Amino acid sequence: MALLEIRDLHVGVEDREIIRGLHLSVHAGEVHAIMGPNGSGKSTLSHVIAGKPGYEITGGQILFRGQNLLQMEPNERAAKGVFLAFQYPVEIPGVTTMNFLRAALNAQRKARDQQEFSTPEFLKRVREVAGSLNIPRDMIKRGVNVGFSGGEKKRNEILQMALFEPSLCVLDEIDSGLDIDALRIVASGINALRSPERAMIVITHYRRLLEHIVPDIVHVMSKGRVMKSGGKELALELEACGYSQFEDAA
Ligand code: ADP
Ligand code: MG
Ligand code: MG
Repeated sequence: MALLEIRDLHVGVEDREIIRGLHLSVHAGEVHAIMGPNGSGKSTLSHVIAGKPGYEITGGQILFRGQNLLQMEPNERAAKGVFLAFQYPVEIPGVTTMNFLRAALNAQRKARDQQEFSTPEFLKRVREVAGSLNIPRDMIKRGVNVGFSGGEKKRNEILQMALFEPSLCVLDEIDSGLDIDALRIVASGINALRSPERAMIVITHYRRLLEHIVPDIVHVMSKGRVMKSGGKELALELEACGYSQFEDAA
């Protein structure tokens, strides 16, 4: 059974159809890249998977481990192992990253009927993962994302992702605004989380990220549909020929 199975999905925003008959099948252990021009519906797709409100599902299905994902509340999806890393992480002044992570992680463990982490256990986990992501200790004592650079925000997202141990990670343009060094750190953090039990959907506009996170399958999305799927070589083809060849067919 696929971990995530999207069948003929149609999604509208304010009476406009944004996702127009999208199919996608993702198995555990696979890393899928979704590439496509701006406005093709990539972020909309990631928001719909995570359960962000404001979208009207007008047709189709999303199954997660065979269960109807669209019927679940966003926190239920997270508890079941769906994680979305945002293109634009939000700032939460007044709440330290440390406290935010602890509250979020313990809420999730509770929803999974797992025991809450004790404070020393939690600190140990955070320090291990933060260390591997080159996140300095003082950063996690500051307000969530407050005054963080683009690269720090993205590393913070990956820190969250590593702690939550999701089975499906959706990474929406995690590369945007990163310089090459920050991109390397973020990519190696993501690569460290690849496992046979876990699948990832890596959304990107650019091929550069896929040199660091090598996908098993590449999809080209245009105008709300997957226009073409292939191996990692498809990303190279796109760089040579651009997206316009796919737009004509839409
Ligand atoms: P991508 O991530 O591929 O750049 P998006 O999913 O962000 O594409 O957007 C797809 C289309 O949907 C765009 O034309 C965008 O303007 C439109 N859209 C997305 N969200 C909204 C919204 N909340 N209200 C109105 N239009 C939206
Ligand atoms: Mg966009
Ligand atoms: Mg987007």
